[in-house]
Amino acid sequence: MPRVGVLALQGDVREHVSMLEGLDVDVVRVRHPEDLDTLDGLVLPGGESTTIAYLLNSSGIRPVLEEKITSGFSVMGTCAGLILLSSEILGGRSDQWCFGALDIAVRRNGYGRQIASFESPVNVAGVGTVPGVFIRAPKIERCADGVEVLATLDHGDGEHPVLVRHANVWGCAFHPELTQDSRVHQLFTDSL
Ligand code: GLN
Repeated sequence: MPRVGVLALQGDVREHVSMLEGLDVDVVRVRHPEDLDTLDGLVLPGGESTTIAYLLNSSGIRPVLEEKITSGFSVMGTCAGLILLSSEILGGRSDQWCFGALDIAVRRNGYGRQIASFESPVNVAGVGTVPGVFIRAPKIERCADGVEVLATLDHGDGEHPVLVRHANVWGCAFHPELTQDSRVHQLFTDSL
């Protein structure tokens, strides 16, 4: 059974944990660098990317996770987690860093602020239609050639990727953990 961590520094940790608990995996909350030791994969949740970035530094997790991702460790970032995995943040804070694990540019709150949050069906390649919950979601505005686009959405200004993957790194602009549909998590855990 794969052991899957949920980065438990800030954000919707509980929702990811309960979704993963419904799948065939061992779930571990990650708060310290050593929690990463025995894992097969890690979910970076939604929340506030600047806060999670700050806590990744203060917890000492950042360099350890960076090294692991470079060595092929599997990660899936949702919403704020996607921002953290990207290589370029548009509209971020001037001192905001990211792992650069996915060669994409994301615009923070690219679909609008909290009040503009919305739900929309999302058609995921090889899976079918899943409910997409977008809350202050990042918009993927540039996607490098090697990045596989598994789902796009047109929210009135053309198609933008909302679920992407490059090898061991997965990024999702919406919140599958806030629905009853576990197929996006399943896609990730099946790859471990
Ligand atoms: N806009 C938030 C950020 O920049 C992310 C929102 C979310 O994760 N729901 O961190």
